[in-house]
Amino acid sequence: MSDRYGELVQSPLGKKVAKNLGLPMPIKLDRYEIGQPVIRGEVAFGTAFGGDELVASIIQNVLFDLDAKITTAEHLNEKLTDENAKFKVAIFDATNIKDVDGLKKVYEFFHVLARRIKSSGRVIIIARPECCTGGDVGFAIAQRALLGFVKSVGKEFKKGITANVLYTQIGAEAHLEHALKFFLSAKSAYVSGQPIYIKKSDGLDEFTVVDFDENKPLKGRKILVTGASRGIGAAVAQVLARDGAKLYCLDVPQNLADLQKIAGNLGGYALPLDITEANAAEQIVKACGVLDGVVHNAGVTRDKMLANMSEDKWDLVMDINLKAIHTINDYLIKNQGISDSARIVCVSSISGIAGNLGQTNYAMSKAGVIGLVEATAKQFKGTNQTINAVAPGFIETKMTGMIPFAIREAGRRMNSMSQGGEPVDVAETISWLLSPKADGLNGNVVRVCGQSLLGA
Ligand code: NAD
Repeated sequence: MSDRYGELVQSPLGKKVAKNLGLPMPIKLDRYEIGQPVIRGEVAFGTAFGGDELVASIIQNVLFDLDAKITTAEHLNEKLTDENAKFKVAIFDATNIKDVDGLKKVYEFFHVLARRIKSSGRVIIIARPECCTGGDVGFAIAQRALLGFVKSVGKEFKKGITANVLYTQIGAEAHLEHALKFFLSAKSAYVSGQPIYIKKSDGLDEFTVVDFDENKPLKGRKILVTGASRGIGAAVAQVLARDGAKLYCLDVPQNLADLQKIAGNLGGYALPLDITEANAAEQIVKACGVLDGVVHNAGVTRDKMLANMSEDKWDLVMDINLKAIHTINDYLIKNQGISDSARIVCVSSISGIAGNLGQTNYAMSKAGVIGLVEATAKQFKGTNQTINAVAPGFIETKMTGMIPFAIREAGRRMNSMSQGGEPVDVAETISWLLSPKADGLNGNVVRVCGQSLLGA
């Protein structure tokens, strides 16, 4: 689905008209391209009260690895005397802020940078989750407060700049690298205003990622994608294939031609199957064997106001969007259908977080998906398996293309990016969660919504 208005305001005349009328001015977001540097500009790096030694060394190693040009806080003012000096990334280690007064350090670092972040820039704060504040209320307040700051920065800075907090548990610092590389890159173009919780992997000690290839992070991993014949699912399949996965693409038998085309082009297998079939899980195991990853993407909407909603619309949405995922997961977990280091990603929706007019069935099913992820994440504790959800906002697909024009236009603009996301934005986030290196990520609900105004 094309965004004509978004294209129009890219032109000099369109830009001028939009500005004069106070209309939204979406910019073309940087997106990942093979061969492009991960960070396309300079980095400002600050810490509060010296930061955490381990966190700081990991940040520095990652930046060094990515060949980033860094300005540290002590040289920032000097650098900013050059009025053309701008940064692509501002990263701040706030883990040592232990009381309300200490939060002033956040102001001091970001205030001078506020007009100096480039388009599609990145603001990243490293913080500690509440469980690491040792019952110290002042420490907990300070760390929680950072999320409010970051959410406001995302809304204020605009220009495609994202702002996120990486809440890193003490002892989980080794997992920061994987999260940082995603949030520094253009792969996270449409993820903003999010708290990401990075936990100690409480899995078995012997699990280590061997032969990890940064260019093919999913090499050798057998991954099933449901609803893969079009829209977000097709984009997921494409990105996972790029990242080296061995793909199983599933969709309803009616879409076999499209499914075969997608799977064939990507060197994957097509699996025509309705996920609501009674023995769908058995058929999956029969066709795929033991899986290293499952992406529960298949989903439908059947919108109606509750008073007008027929029972069949209600049942269809609940059966496909929630019951089938639960049944399949349950079978795969109980019957060794997934490997010891498997990653499951479920596609929820911001409707499941915020609710939506005419979507009682859909929102209920997608909220249920979040419940499923949270409960299963607990079940996976003590293993090397993980489960997470992505919650897309307005993504340009056939599904959103069917929304009436005025509502579609409102949905598309009601976020900090003033534009809908692309299926690839959801796909990049899913691929990041599927990585063998993502063992610090379990039970997250990552919104891919350009910081939609809807929901928390
Ligand atoms: P889409 O309609 O373009 O694709 C969904 C795919 O799922 C289709 O190929 C369809 O055939 C398949 N499918 C439906 N029922 C199935 C079944 N019973 N068995 C197997 N496959 C089945 O939708 P999309 O926009 O690409 O959405 C993909 C997922 O993302 C859905 O779960 C949707 O709820 C979610 N989502 C989408 C948006 C958005 O803005 N597009 C926003 C939030 C969440």
